[in-house]
Amino acid sequence: MILLKDRTKSVTHRVLESLNARMNLPDEEKKKYENQVKGFAGEKQFDFHMTQTHPFGIILNDLVLTHRDTVFQIDSLLITNDSVYLYEVKNYTGTYFFKEESFFAESGYKILNPLRQIDRSATYLHNVMLRLGYRLTIHSVIVFINPDFQLYSLLPNKLFVFSNQLSKHLNNLPSQDISLKHEQLELANKLKEFHNENYRPDNLPIYIFDHLKKGIICPICFSIRYTTTRQNYFCTACGYKETNRQAIERSIKEFKVLFPDLMLTTTRIYQWCGEIYSRQHIRIILKKNYQSQLSRHMTYYSEK
Ligand SMILES: [Zn+2]
Repeated sequence: MILLKDRTKSVTHRVLESLNARMNLPDEEKKKYENQVKGFAGEKQFDFHMTQTHPFGIILNDLVLTHRDTVFQIDSLLITNDSVYLYEVKNYTGTYFFKEESFFAESGYKILNPLRQIDRSATYLHNVMLRLGYRLTIHSVIVFINPDFQLYSLLPNKLFVFSNQLSKHLNNLPSQDISLKHEQLELANKLKEFHNENYRPDNLPIYIFDHLKKGIICPICFSIRYTTTRQNYFCTACGYKETNRQAIERSIKEFKVLFPDLMLTTTRIYQWCGEIYSRQHIRIILKKNYQSQLSRHMTYYSEK
């Protein structure tokens, strides 16, 4: 197994994570954030099973691809010598019913049909691969990763894999001793190249710099309470520690995810970090890592 692309949190996930710590999110956005966290945890669990079983092939996680202006996302892709396995991982919990081609929660609410979702992804993926000159069979698989998930009135369907069937499914994947074909590796690299890491869906919440709480968020518990020494940043809520430089660099990355169109300036990052580090300290880090993105004026911004 070759892991060609690791899993990272989506832009939506990262934006909501940071807004949740820096403002009072409306209930609907909070729910969306919780779903992101839950979904990501489910995907990580799937990855764990995958690495344990170590199937033959190349794995690409979290792909955001575009086919004719339509963006589609893939949770996991396993490319073998003769086919491609397209995985959609669902971390649903509770009892659901499948009737009239739809999924219903026990409460009666209808949820997005994962069959339709994966069908859409499979169609687009087929077209993308064809455009690249590859004709490989796509096997679509929906994995319900959570053991606390029950689905009733289900007709036998190869597309579904429940948590207690996952090991068996992964063990049954073709395990070839022969080496991977060159074309497959080439295809995997091309798909990785096409991945749009900075894709921003248009349903992100609206927020502005001035209204967000400033300071450095702990990457472990997301608390915004911390102390600093000459060298280090300490989260007072969970005890997490890192160097001041790491804390500032992490905050700059977070800023860039939230405000991709705002110019990086010493003053802005100084405010963003809670005005606890000197402007000079921040300027040095910005200059070292983001020289090309700094406005000329701000690069030489004099410390006041
Ligand atoms: Zn913490």
